[in-house]
Amino acid sequence: MAYTTIEDPALIKKAFEMKQSGMYVSDIAKLLSEESGKRITQMALWRLFTNDEKTRRQGQIKPDGEKAVPKPVCPKCGEIMVRVSFRGDKSQGRAYIPVGWMCPSSTCDYIAKDFIEIEDTEE
Ligand SMILES: [Zn+2]
Repeated sequence: MAYTTIEDPALIKKAFEMKQSGMYVSDIAKLLSEESGKRITQMALWRLFTNDEKTRRQGQIKPDGEKAVPKPVCPKCGEIMVRVSFRGDKSQGRAYIPVGWMCPSSTCDYIAKDFIEIEDTEE
């Protein structure tokens, strides 16, 4: 029976230490399973890391007073993704145009572009 949640505090601590050292969740799952003799699934780790992020992000308020939308988590390494935008050209008023999310980890190349609803521009 696979573990869907990790409850052992020693394992949780180890999992976070490994994550902080930049290890991939798949590697952490493998190592922890070997060490503990239990089957630690990647899903269990994701759940653990995601819950932690949720708690950390609770009550975050953006400068404009809006409540922050929870940031997505990198599916490759579990890092909190950062927003990516580019500076628009003159016709776009040189505004920052959001493109999507990318993983800030230097060992990870994950980028997720926003889904764009294409507006009907014909008149
Ligand atoms: Zn990543």
